Amino acid sequence: MKLWNHYHVPQTIDEALHLLESYAGQARIVAGGTDLLVDARAEVAFEPHEALIDITHIPELLNIQEEGDMIYIGAGVTHSAIVKSQIIVDSATCLVESCGVVGGPQVRNVATLGGNVAHALPAGDGTTSLVALDADVEVFYEGQRRWLPVCDVFLGPGRSLLQTGRDLLLGFRFKKCGQGEATAFKRIMRPQGVALPIMGCAVWVKLDLAFAHFESVRISIAPIGPKPARAVEVENELVGKAANGDTIESVAAFAQTVLHPRTSKYRATEDYRSEMIRVLLRRTLTLATERARTGTAVPEGVGV
Ligand SMILES: Cc1cc2nc3c(=O)[nH]c(=O)nc-3n(C[C@H](O)[C@H](O)[C@H](O)COP(=O)(O)OP(=O)(O)OC[C@H]3O[C@@H](n4cnc5c(N)ncnc54)[C@H](O)[C@@H]3O)c2cc1C
Repeated sequence: MKLWNHYHVPQTIDEALHLLESYAGQARIVAGGTDLLVDARAEVAFEPHEALIDITHIPELLNIQEEGDMIYIGAGVTHSAIVKSQIIVDSATCLVESCGVVGGPQVRNVATLGGNVAHALPAGDGTTSLVALDADVEVFYEGQRRWLPVCDVFLGPGRSLLQTGRDLLLGFRFKKCGQGEATAFKRIMRPQGVALPIMGCAVWVKLDLAFAHFESVRISIAPIGPKPARAVEVENELVGKAANGDTIESVAAFAQTVLHPRTSKYRATEDYRSEMIRVLLRRTLTLATERARTGTAVPEGVGV
């Protein structure tokens, strides 16, 4: 069976949108193809389409830009490009740490951050960090360009707000880490695993002026529910507390009591995942706190 009849490589966003419109829902966006073509071959969530529209030659979607205290990343930027970006290493280290563990080098060289989010799996590694960074997503949705909080794009596992063949994810924006702020990402993966993690965790911390207390914290642990979400109850437990090992240990234990991951047939049991919540929070909070104090961050665990 032929999976598509035409393959288009538009050079501008307008051209891509025009193509989507002309196929009236019968075309499908492709970026790196690392999710789409695996699904197509397995015939999972993929029906034959009249056309594929490849967005990887649209310069506006391939940029990483710094504007004031914000960073903009185009939807077509690959995980490898993010890992190599000094701007992101310095001011959103968790994203480098998450994009740096996606698949192997062959996957990272073509797979995009936009594809990671558009595929809408709750534990996509790039997604986990975007949630901790409190990122917004720019979409062409219902005929208009607009910005949405990243979590609003997700409807459930593999289901996003974007209508296949009509809408387009354009890019991301988030605030750079400032003085006393830092991030970290870690995941637990099966040794032979190449796809989604058993559990991933990204944190953003802001310390007070004396670097002694947590002033504000964002925590993203996945998968917990069907959609990515912040662990707000756990964040609230940290605010105002001393930024030290005792606090981190007791809040990591608290997290285990309020977060309820589920058993996955392919990855891990609920009990194991629950233990990993504690381990990952301890590791990421300790690392991010250290980075916030020293003002330096060397990404850890990133593949080449
Ligand atoms: C061997 C292997 C290992 C992997 N390991 C990991 C891993 O460790 N962690 C992880 O999170 N993921 C992993 N993945 C999944 C995948 O690589 C990532 O999710 C990747 O970021 C998807 O990006 P892509 O550009 O390849 O998306 P594509 O496959 O091109 O697209 C995915 C979906 O998103 C849609 N889409 C893509 N871009 C847009 C856009 N701009 N606007 C609207 N819709 C769009 C497509 O139509 C399709 O439905 C792995 C995949 C493979 C094959």
